[in-house]
Amino acid sequence: MNTNYNTIIIGAGVAGMSAAIYLKRANIDFLIVEKEMPGGQINRTSDIENYPGIHSITGPELAMQMYEQLKKLEIKLSTETVEKVIKEKDSIIVKTNKNEYNCKNIIIATGRRPKTLDLKNENKYINHGISFCAVCDGFFFKNQDVAVIGGGRSALEEALYLSNLCNKVTLIHRRSEFRAEDNLIDRLKSTKNVEIITDASIKDFVGDNEKLTGVKIKKNNKSKIIPVTGCFTYIGQIPNTEIFNNLEIKDENNYIEINQNSETAVPGIYAAGDCCKKQVYQIITAESEGIVAANMIITKENLKK
Ligand code: NAP
Repeated sequence: MNTNYNTIIIGAGVAGMSAAIYLKRANIDFLIVEKEMPGGQINRTSDIENYPGIHSITGPELAMQMYEQLKKLEIKLSTETVEKVIKEKDSIIVKTNKNEYNCKNIIIATGRRPKTLDLKNENKYINHGISFCAVCDGFFFKNQDVAVIGGGRSALEEALYLSNLCNKVTLIHRRSEFRAEDNLIDRLKSTKNVEIITDASIKDFVGDNEKLTGVKIKKNNKSKIIPVTGCFTYIGQIPNTEIFNNLEIKDENNYIEINQNSETAVPGIYAAGDCCKKQVYQIITAESEGIVAANMIITKENLKK
């Protein structure tokens, strides 16, 4: 089995898959390592309506189309968990739960994961009513009452998605202003089966020890339980970068710092997508950072010839 590659891409989300398409077409010898299924965060996104050229597509559909493109190009993707990356003088070692690879370059495209509220009963009801993915789990709450927590674009978009499936959706946000475009806020406000509760904090989750039965909130100094069978939390993200703690490439919030060439401070180590510190976290910006990293590697290899 080959364990020597020019490049290892860590993560097969949209950033990693985009980099892979460009590396393959330039004939670079590389491998993608992914611990779950390809697609990353977009597998947990409902409708995508701002991807240029595609009027509307679901996240899982877009992920599948990209993965089909990889298969058509015969790109090698291995299901393994990366545990550590070690930078040596002339090479980079990538240790996984199955192998130890040696390469010249890596592209880190490990993305982000949903933040939790860290409340007493939260762990007990995760997957028993609490979910972080409306598109994956919304169907289980068909015709039921659910809550969505958060006031960003994800919370609002997923609340709209759930309003088509569920009896009632209660959106609970800690402030009165939202982090989303006006047209999205207006659409949500005019949706009949959506109730919006602002300026409310989440105190805990309640249930019968097996399943969630409600969300305890506090508003105007009064506590109240919103009875729901499902609760979808969209309160932001944490970058998946803990395995790179030994490399000096992160900021104080654990995001990887890259320049406009998708280069980190360590030569040969590139990063792309939502694991990076940046202004705009969009599918298209993640793809573009992946493509820039790939092209930097392609240019470097061509100069050696
Ligand atoms: P976000 O914009 O960071 O919003 C997180 C929300 O959760 C905020 O409203 C925040 O409240 C709230 N929150 C954070 N911690 C909380 C806590 N402990 N308790 C209660 N509420 C809490 O996250 P996001 O919606 O996941 O979006 C992330 C990025 O992806 C953004 O840049 C967004 O534009 C982008 N995005 C794009 C699309 C699209 O283009 N279609 C879709 C989804 C997301 P505060 O407002 O009070 O801080």
